[in-house]
Amino acid sequence: MSENENYDVLIVGGGPAGLTAGLYAARARLKCVLLEKMMMGGQIATTDVVDNYPGFPDGIAGAEIGPLFEAQARRFGLEVRQFQEGVRVEARGDGFTVTCANGDELFGKSVIVAAGSRWNPLGIPGEERLRGAGVSYCATCDGAFFRDQELAVVGGGNSAIEEAVFLTKFAARVYVIHRRDQLRAEKVVQEKAFSNPRIEIIWSHVPTEIVGENGVEGIRIKDVKSGAERLLPVAGVFIYVGMQANSEVVGHLVETDERGYIKAGEDTRTSCPGIFAAGDIRTKPLRQVATAIADGATAAIMAEKYLEQ
Ligand code: NAP
Repeated sequence: MSENENYDVLIVGGGPAGLTAGLYAARARLKCVLLEKMMMGGQIATTDVVDNYPGFPDGIAGAEIGPLFEAQARRFGLEVRQFQEGVRVEARGDGFTVTCANGDELFGKSVIVAAGSRWNPLGIPGEERLRGAGVSYCATCDGAFFRDQELAVVGGGNSAIEEAVFLTKFAARVYVIHRRDQLRAEKVVQEKAFSNPRIEIIWSHVPTEIVGENGVEGIRIKDVKSGAERLLPVAGVFIYVGMQANSEVVGHLVETDERGYIKAGEDTRTSCPGIFAAGDIRTKPLRQVATAIADGATAAIMAEKYLEQ
């Protein structure tokens, strides 16, 4: 491994947490590299508009946030390797190695894991087979393919409701299928759905099957109270039923909870000294851009303190 591949801090993940960690680490004059496998901004890059990140009174496009954070961190010297995925961290000597998907190996005296989370699948027949053929987990990516058609969104959290509202830009009608008779989404998000004439909420129903030959033709849903089943004809199904952590990269080194979230407190310290967890990947009560950037700043400063010891 060349001297060029030896760092004080390795950051895995280029969402708001990782990029903020990079900004603070660079300003602390630590030698630091950030790995991001896809888009800068991570999950937020696939969000249409972010309305609850302070400082942008008219909201900001999700796709704009990552590049802005990146430019700010680069200004202070952060090295960024985009489209490079850190797949496995191992403890080695007085630090850690991270092996990348392309085979590169980097060494860091400390690691900040900010790899975020991914969508849960529903786990019903037809979902996997029709993935990419009408089954989607990204309204921003796929919504425009469904102009003037009828769609189903599954879930009742912020993601499901915000994405359902977004999909009404294209679709003639969006059915939100929710398993209870009350939404989990924030009230202000709920109000947007209730006032949108193109959204119909189907309460207390669960999907049992996604049907179609070469593409989605409908979704079978069951009334949880009566047990009655019916087929809802739709051209696409967007699934937003919660998330699980992308912690496999360090899961063998640190303690995690049952959904893979890395156990770490406000100080972002994990059970393994030298590894810090920031953003959605950490056990925490609120997963937002605002809480992710707080974690990123804390993780960088904790890494600096760790290196001083
Ligand atoms: P979430 O808040 O965990 O909501 C998941 C939804 O899916 C819940 O309504 C849940 O129903 C439902 N669900 C779970 N498993 C299901 C199953 N097997 N079948 C049918 N329905 C199922 O997930 P999220 O909406 O993706 O949000 C994730 C995190 O990101 C949250 O912390 C959220 O606040 C945050 N977020 C924030 C914003 C924002 O601030 N604007 C936007 C997007 C996401 P129950 O309600 O019955 O449990």
